[in-house]
Parts: sequence; C-alpha cells; structure tokens
Amino acid sequence: MIAVKSIANNINIQTCSSTFLAIQLSAKWLTVVVFLLLLAIVIVSLLWYRREQELLHNLTDIITAPSEELEDAGISGNKSQEPKDTREAFISLIQQRRQEMDRLNKLENYRRDYIGNVAHELKTPIFAIQGYIDAVLDDPEIDRETLQTFLSKASKNSARLAQIVSDLDTITKYESGFLTLNMDEFDLLNLCHEIAESMELQAKEKNISVQVIAAMGEGYVVMADRPRIAQVLTNLVYNSIRYGKQDGNTRIRLSSTLEKVIIEVADNGIGIPSEHQGRIFERFYRVDKHRNRATGGSGLGLSICKHIVEAHNETIGLISTEGAGSSFSFSLKLAPKEE
Ligand code: ADP
Repeated sequence: MIAVKSIANNINIQTCSSTFLAIQLSAKWLTVVVFLLLLAIVIVSLLWYRREQELLHNLTDIITAPSEELEDAGISGNKSQEPKDTREAFISLIQQRRQEMDRLNKLENYRRDYIGNVAHELKTPIFAIQGYIDAVLDDPEIDRETLQTFLSKASKNSARLAQIVSDLDTITKYESGFLTLNMDEFDLLNLCHEIAESMELQAKEKNISVQVIAAMGEGYVVMADRPRIAQVLTNLVYNSIRYGKQDGNTRIRLSSTLEKVIIEVADNGIGIPSEHQGRIFERFYRVDKHRNRATGGSGLGLSICKHIVEAHNETIGLISTEGAGSSFSFSLKLAPKEE
C-alpha cells in the first residue's frame, strides 16, 4: 500500500514539474515574443518619425525657398504633373499655394508702386493749379497782367494734368495687353517731316533745329501702325528738345537695309548718365526726378515708345553720353515690294 502511495506521489511530482517546465518555457517564449513586438514597434516608430521629419524638412525648404530656386530645382506646382502619392500631392499643393502667394505679393507691390507713382505725378500740377487759383482769390485788386500770367500758368498745368491722365490710360492698356495694331503701308519719310513741323514751336523756344535726314532714292514705305509710330516719333523728338541744349540740334535720320528701316532720333543735349541707361524705358523712371517733373512730362513717354515698338516685334535702343547727347533708334519692317 505504501509502495503504491509512493509511486502515486512520484507520478504527481513528475506531473507538477513538467507543468512547471511547460509554464517556464511558455514564459520565455512570451518574453521573446513581447520583446520582438516591442522591437518591431520601435523600428516602425523610428521609420515613421524619420519619414515625418523628412516631410517636415521638405515642407520647410519649400516654404522658405524663393520661387526662382524652386523652379531652378525643377520643382513646380504644375498641375499637369501627376503626384505619385499623398505626400507628393501635399508638397505639390504647398508649392502651388506658395507660387500663388509670390504672384499676389508681386501684384501687391506693383499696385502699391503704381498708385504711389501716379499720386506723385498728379501732385505737382494739381498743387500748382491750386496755388495760382488761391493767389488770384487772395488778391481782389490783382492787376490784369498778373491775372493773365497766373491763369495761363494754371491752364498749362491743367493741360499737363490731362496729358498725364491720357498717358496713364495708354500705358494701362498697353501693360494689360490691350494693344491692337492697325497695320498699314505708309511713307515713313513723310511722317518724319510731319512730326518735325509739328514740333517747330517747341523747338523755337530753345532755338533748336530739327532736321530730317534720309538718303535720296531709297524707299521708306513701311508696314506699321501709323498713328502709334507717330506717337513714338513725337515722344522722342519732344524729349530731344526738352533735354536738348539752347541752340542745339535734333536729327531724325532714316536708313534702310534689305528688310527694315532704322529710325534714329539724335540730339546734342544733356545726355543720360550710363548708370541710368538700363532703366530709362521703365515707366515713371527719370534721371533727375525733381527737375524733370518741373519741366513737364509724365515719365511714361519712353515706356510707351517701348511698348509700341515691341508690339511691332521690333526693338528700341539708346546710345548716350552724359553732357554730349543721346540717340534713340528703332526699326520697322519695310512694306513688301510690289512685283
Ligand atoms: P519724361 O516725361 O520724364 O520725359 P520719358 O519716359 O519720356 O519721361 O523719359 C524718361 C527720362 O529719360 C526723362 O525723365 C529724362 O531723364 C530721360 N530722357 C529721355 N529722353 C532724353 C533725352 N533725349 N536726353 C536726355 N535725357 C532724356
């Protein structure tokens, strides 16, 4: 009986120890599995963190980089490029927004500049007119001669005001691309003579001679928009007188090549310093801002000339030496010769 009991006890002990072993083994496996799981979670988290950091880095680069750099790097918010995944789509969206913001900022600066310049231009004649009117009103015993002088000065300034407004209207149309040309055949030599004659009065005030020079026998029939070319010539000749010296001269010279006519308006006036020459065709740009505003003009004349010449697919250029004179030249296409 005792022997049977001890056998039974033995079996029990063995069963217990094998259960214990099994539990021990399971615990070990469990630890390994948990460890592996934790490792996997850490690795995935690290990878995810790196990806997020990279994304953040890219976004920061895009947000802080100037648009030109983005374009140079071949990154553009072009909608036609299909984004590969959500991340790229997001970056592309940010790029588009960024470019839009740049464009709006540029427009805002342009608008601010434009309004500032316009206000500045209008101020001079308006204040002058106001000044002459006040002077007349303040002096009830003003003599007839002074009254005449003040009124004529007020009238000159109001004409200048009208000129500025008209130039502003013209430049706005040109800059917004509403310039349509009425191309026609006409003799440029005739037009040059017409312009020279129309400037006689202004030229006389400074005793400046205005001459038209063209080789005999050559044809100068061009294909262009006559009224607009007349405007270019008027602006250039008028400038040559305004910035010309007393007793000076203006030459309107024509020369032709196989396909084109080169028109040059040259003077021996004050000239344009080299540091200003690159910007002289910009609207409102002036060499001597105060003096030029006082001598009249809107600061838009050369800018209008450039728009008109470029609308003809031609170019306008300048050669000038300070103190010696300036020469503006542009080209026009000759009209096709009749067979
Ligand atoms: P503005 O109404 O001031 O004359 P423009 O656009 O016609 O405006 O000319 C711009 C500037 O270019 C002038 O203010 C002047 O400083 C300079 N300029 C233009 N033409 C001449 C010239 N023939 N000689 C010297 N300076 C000139």
